[in-house]
Amino acid sequence: MGYTYWEVRVTVPKKDDPWVNQSSRRRALYKKFLPKGKKVACWICGQDEPSADQLDHKLPRSKFPDLIWDESNIVPAHGDCNNKKSDNLTTPGIGFPSEAW
Ligand SMILES: [Zn+2]
Repeated sequence: MGYTYWEVRVTVPKKDDPWVNQSSRRRALYKKFLPKGKKVACWICGQDEPSADQLDHKLPRSKFPDLIWDESNIVPAHGDCNNKKSDNLTTPGIGFPSEAW
């Protein structure tokens, strides 16, 4: 083997993101993970008030395209929390911008 699993990972351009493109598949997961009328806790902040309204990937789909539809990698989140987290894992070394400064 001349290369490792990690080295062949590539970043998927947004327009080729199957999570974005395959909306019916995504909607089915939304229904399953975020059933209407049920409070679902956000995996980032742990709050279920208000209920989580988005699905997030524990391992970001830009780095782990194979896990996009892997239900063990899909977790409910608030849109706000998700935006704050962003794809932090995809930019190692940069980290979170500090809001305290
Ligand atoms: Zn949250």
